[in-house]
Amino acid sequence: MRLAEKVVLITGAGSGIGRESSLLFAREGATVVAVDLNGDAASETSALVSKDGGASSTFQADVSRAADCEAMVAFAESTHGRLDVLFNNAGVMISSDDDAMATDEATWDLTMNVNAKGVFLGCKYGIPALRRAGGGSIINTASFVAVMGAATPQVAYTASKGAVLALTRELAVIHARENIRVNALCPGPLRTEMLMKFLDTEAKRQRRLVHIPMGRFGEAREVAQAALFLASDESSFITGSDFLVDGGITAAYVTPE
Ligand code: NAD
Repeated sequence: MRLAEKVVLITGAGSGIGRESSLLFAREGATVVAVDLNGDAASETSALVSKDGGASSTFQADVSRAADCEAMVAFAESTHGRLDVLFNNAGVMISSDDDAMATDEATWDLTMNVNAKGVFLGCKYGIPALRRAGGGSIINTASFVAVMGAATPQVAYTASKGAVLALTRELAVIHARENIRVNALCPGPLRTEMLMKFLDTEAKRQRRLVHIPMGRFGEAREVAQAALFLASDESSFITGSDFLVDGGITAAYVTPE
């Protein structure tokens, strides 16, 4: 098993990538701490992990709050004895996010607080725990929009994911000699509730699909597979990377029919 005896904390575990990763990581031997703002959703994920024969616990936290991030890491260590992998995955995409003129300040602030500050706070409290465990792996969920302009404007979201990439790179360099690896996971457009709510008409979906060489949206479980690789010791020489899982969208100029 690829994550045997590892304790993994996953934020945003109540849905999408976080839920699929919780299930996959537990199947690979990890004990999963499923963290979400929506405590019921995190509990549902834990129940699914148990049903599947895996080990997990649940913690309700808002990753944009320092006290919550400190408490979730303390919970992982006190309940399971250590923390080996931190998957900062929680994120929001707000429907009022648009171009610079149309995006209001509250949308900008909330997006940055969850998507960028949430990753910083996870690392702030998670890194000392990984040090206590003798090292570990941090995976920060960014997005393909951090490396290219998107066809549908969402400036706050894009800026927040750019911040995740830059933060990841710097932390990777700072902690490289401590056996702590830090990588950004950059999913392409996925067929998840988050994106389908945003691309809420067929015309909007087609506008995005036309740029994806594979001609389809990705699945959360395909991103979970990449996260598993970054979490496991198989990626032992990989740190500071922007790990793209995007159906080729960032490689494309025009898409063939
Ligand atoms: P999702 O909406 O299905 O899941 C996100 C989870 O995060 C939810 O369970 C939600 O309750 C939780 N959450 C939101 N705010 C939180 C907070 N303040 N504290 C703790 N938990 C909070 O979305 P998903 O598609 O699984 O997205 C996961 C990550 O992947 C996000 O960071 C997202 O930006 C990123 N991403 C998604 C896509 C996509 O197409 N869906 C593409 C690229 C990147």
